Amino acid sequence: MPVPKRKKPRTRTRSRKAQWFNSARTPAYATCPQCKKPKLPHHACANCGTYDGRQVLTVD
Ligand SMILES: [Zn+2]
Repeated sequence: MPVPKRKKPRTRTRSRKAQWFNSARTPAYATCPQCKKPKLPHHACANCGTYDGRQVLTVD
């Protein structure tokens, strides 16, 4: 098996990790079709309590 002659450059390591950091640190969110506020995807909206056009939560 061939062995690498030298370590990977820092820029290689950092640019590879940057892909992971961007996807892991950016919280995914969707926009509520009712109130247009940001909400978690596949969750009922915390603001208006609707999911898929139906009222599923009682909101004060
Ligand atoms: Zn909403």
